[in-house]
Amino acid sequence: MSEVLEKVACIDLEGVLVPEMWPYIAQRTGIDVLHETTREVPEYRLLMARRISALRSHGVTLPQMQEILAEIAPFPESTDFLARIGEQYSVRILSDCFYELADPVLGLLGRPTALCHHLVTDDDGFIVRCEFAPSRRGKEDVVTAFLDAGSEVVAVGDAFNDLEMLKLATRGFLVRPSESTRAMASSRICVVEHVDEIVEMLR
Ligand SMILES: [Mg+2]
Repeated sequence: MSEVLEKVACIDLEGVLVPEMWPYIAQRTGIDVLHETTREVPEYRLLMARRISALRSHGVTLPQMQEILAEIAPFPESTDFLARIGEQYSVRILSDCFYELADPVLGLLGRPTALCHHLVTDDDGFIVRCEFAPSRRGKEDVVTAFLDAGSEVVAVGDAFNDLEMLKLATRGFLVRPSESTRAMASSRICVVEHVDEIVEMLR
């Protein structure tokens, strides 16, 4: 990563700024297997392979999913939070989601700079594979690169896959975690109910 920023806020998307997308797709398509998360299938690539195969066997294409996801709105406090934290920090949305799915809701959030993965489709619009962001095992690799470049890093997340970046960051905030995520979080990580508390605490 060549970017050098003095102060950067690495912010997770789903569960922090917007609702979880896969449960929403599961509900709207009636495909039960899409309710599975990394809690049931911890290996993300395997989880995505299961999702892709289920979508294919139920005849659901990416454009159909995008139509469903266009119904999703950000949480009410999200736009204001991004504007306020953006006054002091360069915002980077750091998500294990995919640009092709997150695009409508990122538009509603004012198009913050986002680091996501890509989905590849065939000519009929079916997802055939994921194209994961290169040189990145987890979000913590992005945070480490910013820290190594001398940046002050605030990290905000809500789930197990955020814990490592929250622990490494200069300040880490965990938003509305599940009981099990909270139990695994290091004591350095600050737990909040709403993102606007974070702006207050950074003053
Ligand atoms: Mg999340």
